[in-house]
Amino acid sequence: MTELYYDDDADLSIIQGRKVAVIGYGSQGHAHALSLRDSGVDVRVGLAEGSKSRAKAEAEGLKVLSVADAAAEADVIMILTPDQVQAKVYADSIADKLEEGNALFFGHGFNIRFGFIQPPANVDVALVAPKGPGHIVRREFEAGRGVPDLIAIEQDFTGGAKALALSYAKGIGGTRAGVIETTFTEETETDLFGEQAVLCGGASQLVQYGFETLTEAGYKPEIAYFEVLHELKLIVDLMVEGGIAKQRWSVSDTAEFGDYVSGPRVITPEVKENMKAVLADIQNGSFAKRFMDDQANGAKEFLELRQKGEDHPIEATGRELRKLFSWIKSDDDYTEGVAAR
Ligand code: NDP
Ligand code: MG
Ligand code: MG
Repeated sequence: MTELYYDDDADLSIIQGRKVAVIGYGSQGHAHALSLRDSGVDVRVGLAEGSKSRAKAEAEGLKVLSVADAAAEADVIMILTPDQVQAKVYADSIADKLEEGNALFFGHGFNIRFGFIQPPANVDVALVAPKGPGHIVRREFEAGRGVPDLIAIEQDFTGGAKALALSYAKGIGGTRAGVIETTFTEETETDLFGEQAVLCGGASQLVQYGFETLTEAGYKPEIAYFEVLHELKLIVDLMVEGGIAKQRWSVSDTAEFGDYVSGPRVITPEVKENMKAVLADIQNGSFAKRFMDDQANGAKEFLELRQKGEDHPIEATGRELRKLFSWIKSDDDYTEGVAAR
């Protein structure tokens, strides 16, 4: 069993003794900056001129600077802008502000793993990656709990990189839940695979096909929505609590038998072959290249795919139904973020 690090394994005073710059104030950035601040850390936020996030960060009482000024002031620089802009932000505003012994931190290993950022040898390079969306990272911290983190050390110039990464993880609540050490390569490749094959790509496609199958057969879209989307969360909660076994224990025997006989008919062995092909494209860098090339081309493919997803009939059905559920709170960040697109 791999080693897990908890609060007692991390010394918060290390990060409290440093000056931290959080670059970007989005999903992860706001969670890191606010939770570090609440943990007694000297934190400033670095944002581009005219950033939409600036007002939000300032409203929380955070000090907001340009990326270059934040990087110059700090000795721990955590880059939490979207992955596709990190290389440019680093080259334009961070690289020449790094001083010997500083630490360059990431929330995901993408730019180091695929070589888009190549830091100098005289700084620490580490990863503190919460295994959850930023808004949950913050919500759990405020509730006195945490989301598990992965840490990885790419360069240990000072000899203190791991203790610093653990201390940072403690500052955002990660060691309350448990921290596992990995490498940039393992974190990047497994993170991309998980989100593409199962969590985001796999689950979204599965739900859409399920909805299409039922509605094309003449069933009401609202009923289809409940059966293939809404209930998914309830099933996944059981899986997280007690594995697939607990989910099967809790559902009816009818559902459990159907799971065994129909699951492998829907998700056939070819699906696993397809997953292996997806993993190969991640490992050989072709997914990263496709993503970055498209970004350089104005994100044409990305925006077309996003539009196609938003046009799927399950979204319209869901929007109408969710208005009737007073107990589902859609948070303001999401509503504002989508409106601003
Ligand atoms: P977001 O898209 O939420 O971050 C957007 C933030 O970056 C905004 O504050 C935005 O400012 C700012 N930004 C965008 N472009 C620039 C720029 N050129 N210069 C300065 N700031 C800029 O990112 P995420 O939080 O989703 O991702 C951040 C990192 O965390 C990534 O490496 C990601 O892989 C990783 N990660 C993300 C997770 C998540 O929950 N989303 C989970 C685990 C890891 P503005 O408002 O002005 O646009
Ligand atoms: Mg990811
Ligand atoms: Mg049912």
